[in-house]
Amino acid sequence: MKYRHRNEPGLLPLLVEVLEGTANLSGAACAGRPELFDEAGADEDVQTVRYRHRAAVRICARCTALDRCRAWAETQKELRGMVVAGRAPRLRGAQPHSERKNQR
Ligand code: SF4
Repeated sequence: MKYRHRNEPGLLPLLVEVLEGTANLSGAACAGRPELFDEAGADEDVQTVRYRHRAAVRICARCTALDRCRAWAETQKELRGMVVAGRAPRLRGAQPHSERKNQR
């Protein structure tokens, strides 16, 4: 068996260890839609990333797991450049349209 080095054999102890400390995000509206929430791809332009992150934030706004997700997110040291719990990362590069308007 693959996990023979573990103190307790079997899949259940492994699952318990893997899932310990993870949030219960049952009902997560993002399930199956990672392409909207993921960090910027290496060749992806900033405007495209902003567009999909805005769509992701709208999905979070109507997610039934939002409070649990936010509580979990606050315990994480780093969430890289992903959208989590309705919060989009700050992106380097072109300023958002709303910020450009204020500079005119
Ligand atoms: S709040 Fe957003 S990131 Fe968190 S589970 Fe819901 S849809 Fe996913």
